[in-house]
Amino acid sequence: MSEIAHTIPKANKHHKCGCCCGAINVGEKYVRSFEVFEGHPATFKSHIKCRDLFSYFVSEWYEDGMAESDYLYEVDRVFAEHSNDSSADLSLKIDYLHKTYCGV
Ligand SMILES: [Zn+2]
Repeated sequence: MSEIAHTIPKANKHHKCGCCCGAINVGEKYVRSFEVFEGHPATFKSHIKCRDLFSYFVSEWYEDGMAESDYLYEVDRVFAEHSNDSSADLSLKIDYLHKTYCGV
């Protein structure tokens, strides 16, 4: 997957995050990127946090590219290295990892 360009619009309807599969709510800013995936142009929508974290994972462990399905696997794996809290839900894990690795 290689990104050609991206914009940060405000959602005017519900979208689904391509990384975590969670909802992008109306009024929320999200990343809309235009990419070439397996030779085909595609539009990819995701939460800003998910996009940052996805980029971090790619730069650390997936130089050859990372599938969206690997993202949830890495969120669980990396979070488990920091915390034994197995009851944490996905958005909490993403918040935590985003703070830890993306410096926000
Ligand atoms: Zn997301």
